[in-house]
Amino acid sequence: MKTSFSALSTFKSCPLKYKFQVLDKIRTPKSPEAVFGTLIHSTLQFIHSGGFLPPTEQDALQFFSTKWNPEVFTEELQERTAFAQGVRIIQQYFSKTDPARVQIVDLESRFSVELDDEEKKQKHFISGFIDRIDKTEDGFEIIDYKTSKKLPSQEIVDNNLQLSIYLLAFLKRYPKFKDIEKIKLSLFFVHHGTKLTTTKTWEDLENVKKELISVMTEIEETTFPAIVTPLCAWCGYQKMCPMWKHKFKEDLSVTDQEKSKIIEQYLKAQEDAKNERKKVSELQARILEIMEIEEAKRLFSAGKIITRTCRQTFGYDEPKLKEILQKADVWDEVVKVNQIQLKKVVDALPSATKKEIEATKKLKRESFGLSIKKGDN
Ligand code: SF4
Repeated sequence: MKTSFSALSTFKSCPLKYKFQVLDKIRTPKSPEAVFGTLIHSTLQFIHSGGFLPPTEQDALQFFSTKWNPEVFTEELQERTAFAQGVRIIQQYFSKTDPARVQIVDLESRFSVELDDEEKKQKHFISGFIDRIDKTEDGFEIIDYKTSKKLPSQEIVDNNLQLSIYLLAFLKRYPKFKDIEKIKLSLFFVHHGTKLTTTKTWEDLENVKKELISVMTEIEETTFPAIVTPLCAWCGYQKMCPMWKHKFKEDLSVTDQEKSKIIEQYLKAQEDAKNERKKVSELQARILEIMEIEEAKRLFSAGKIITRTCRQTFGYDEPKLKEILQKADVWDEVVKVNQIQLKKVVDALPSATKKEIEATKKLKRESFGLSIKKGDN
């Protein structure tokens, strides 16, 4: 399989979005956030592309302003806020960094990493671009610019798959550089002017390769389910996504009014049923109490008789039972897989065994329920 890190990341966040974007190649307009991110990336690239005479802060601001496209924003206030943020990011960058002192090795560095799936005798390729590679005092630093506003925890940075892929790419390009601990892997959060850094071991890299191969195998075998998360708010496929399209549909089989009425009735019926169930169990408890006091197993009232029934559940001494049934050669016929126990056991098994078990899974019965959430999103 040939893919890119951004495609893998899309798959991990929502397989259906991956299908729309990567397999069906359905193009959607870039969101204002994505356009902003691209411009910040190219401005930072511009800042570091001048060699010994890098551009000044004024040059960088000029570059940013010239490339600014207000058309992508729907609201004027949003556009002005984003522009001001861009200016602040550039000014903050210059206040903390002297571009002349940064030793750039490469910018927007194109790569392709090869992975061998020995089990399936298959090769996979992941391609992409590394934003920046710097030379440090005793090694290198691989930097990826991030325009998200939220700073992640160090644990998330330590487990960042993208940085690991970049490291694999770097090591492919510089195979003689073996001091892996001297290669810093950094995410630079431009809004904060903060860099979060991690390093990897050779063992980490082996695990990363396995994880990547497992994601790619999953892509080959998945049915591309839709996964609703807060990220849906930025997804350009909402109008064709089964989880969202009804919100935008115009030729509806029911009017909005009718739909709201049915939902209201359903919610009320659900609430009534809940109250009724509560009432039934309270009355049941009271009747059983009367029977207990009266030492009676049946109560009589105006042509009706209520009888106390008893449902008992027994458990067996399983090892003994197993022994007896194995002797009788019928154990295999009576063993029923306990799903909860199975999950516990499977979770602790190696991934190859997990896959084998997963392959034996068959849909036995499907039923549909409804869950209600307040709000439009
Ligand atoms: S709207 Fe959400 S669930 Fe639907 S494809 Fe996009 S990310 Fe997936």
